[in-house]
Amino acid sequence: MTPLLPNYLGGQWHTGTGAGAPLVDPVLGTELVRVDATGLDLAAGFAYAREQGGKALRALSYRARGALLAEVLKVLQSKRDTYYEIATANCGTVKNDSAIDIDGGLFTLGTYARMGETLGDRHTLLDGELARLGKDPLFQSQHVLAPTRGLALLINAFNFPSWGLWEKAAPALLSGVAVIVKPATATAWLTQRMVQDVVEAGILPNGALSVICGSARGLMDQLQPFDVVSFTGSAETAAVIRSHPAVTQRSVRVNIEADSLNSALLLPGNEPGSEAFELLVKEVAREMTQKSGQKCTAIRRVFVPESCYQAAAQAIAARLAKTTVGNPRNESVRMGALVSREQLQSVQAGLIRLKTQTEVLFDGSTQPLIDADASTACCVAPTLLGTRNASGSAQADLVHDTEVFGPVATLLPYAHVGNDVSHALALVRRGQGSLVCSLYGSDSAALAQAAQALADSHGRLHIISPDVASSHTGHGNVMPQSLHGGPGRAGGGEELGGARALNFYHRRSAVQASTDVLRHLSTSSN
Ligand code: NAP
Repeated sequence: MTPLLPNYLGGQWHTGTGAGAPLVDPVLGTELVRVDATGLDLAAGFAYAREQGGKALRALSYRARGALLAEVLKVLQSKRDTYYEIATANCGTVKNDSAIDIDGGLFTLGTYARMGETLGDRHTLLDGELARLGKDPLFQSQHVLAPTRGLALLINAFNFPSWGLWEKAAPALLSGVAVIVKPATATAWLTQRMVQDVVEAGILPNGALSVICGSARGLMDQLQPFDVVSFTGSAETAAVIRSHPAVTQRSVRVNIEADSLNSALLLPGNEPGSEAFELLVKEVAREMTQKSGQKCTAIRRVFVPESCYQAAAQAIAARLAKTTVGNPRNESVRMGALVSREQLQSVQAGLIRLKTQTEVLFDGSTQPLIDADASTACCVAPTLLGTRNASGSAQADLVHDTEVFGPVATLLPYAHVGNDVSHALALVRRGQGSLVCSLYGSDSAALAQAAQALADSHGRLHIISPDVASSHTGHGNVMPQSLHGGPGRAGGGEELGGARALNFYHRRSAVQASTDVLRHLSTSSN
């Protein structure tokens, strides 16, 4: 039997008392470690995080907490090689894809560590300006943001065990809020190891960072009114969390990042061979294959003018054909595996469903896997689907509604007269709210106009014009400076966005008082 990974809760390590769930190498099929949370005293552990961890963090200023995050970053950087080994074994990712998770997480952590310097020696934040409440300026209102006295429960998805941890934990810890992270079981090892390394380094106050691996059973039951829960995962689990009494009765604040039918849109007037057309082709192929398509932000729907449909299909297919799939340990492999057999089955089922309304424009499965046994490895080749009937409600509704969490996208043509893209915009919106849409073209005014029209239904608009060809950060790449989250089916959440991320972990309060009293609020050490 493989070893059980210990949980860290209540300032102590606990090994679950059950048999545990196995974590498996998705390429070789071998069992790696087990996780189990049976027998943990959740009530005591949650109380410890709130009362010990939170209290100790709140006693520090933003600057001091930022400095702790910088120390945490140093520890993690010194152990990067181990994290890469775990990612290869447990996530089945090639080095470049592991980097998105591992180095992306560390970059985000570093961004929030530096933000501590900017926020300075304060213990609360000011929100906006003084507002007069009467005719004379004597009695005024000042909004303040105070760190919540509850804890932050972070429930994460399987696809980003490192980035998913730090993009949430860094803003929470900088805010002065203790964190309990529950990674998705399939890939929990990397999260658990990072927390273990940080705990062993003794940088953070006791109770500031805890990890529970294994079943989520009972976690939500522990939440109290000032706690917050930040969830990333499927719409189904999101619905369970939203309807939990902690949320419906105890007003626990909840942030949901769920699934999303993200799109890429080529504006009219960018013919095959043009720079904008080539940039779309390159980005679509990259987004489909990075992390085997297991990115919540990956492009799932590709909209092009009708006249470009055939050429776009051929050009994307030509790029996908160069994607070698198999064992990430082999240097010639560009795309590794899905994280588990369950995910493989889910992608296969999703493909069958989408194929009922689409044609196959490229099928990479005709190529053999490299260094991997197809009967064991959870590898799936890229597939580009397409349908000329993008708007028929009966014929093509599935592509706007089915998230296949793998290397799969659908090409969809739109009709336009001149530069009028209303048909394309209506099709993009059929995703019912997405994390990100990328726009491609060379007419700045038209690009800006399309972005404005789509802003209400997207957390992020990523515009790729020829002038930023080599400097843009990538459609699916989540930068800590920009918002991550999306309305509607994307979950309605908001993460990151620079200092905006801290809002979730603070309570806003209006202080109404004399100008003299309010003056004390703005002194630097409050
Ligand atoms: P999932 O099955 O919903 O699981 C997400 C997390 O919730 C896991 O940690 C899971 O633990 C936990 N969980 C399961 N049941 C729970 C319950 N009753 N109460 C509390 N927690 C519970 O999602 P997934 O399969 O890991 O992730 C894939 C999905 O996440 C995709 O749809 C993808 O689009 C979405 N995603 C979104 C974003 C974003 O930022 N918007 C990012 C990444 C992924 P166990 O693993 O132990 O079951």
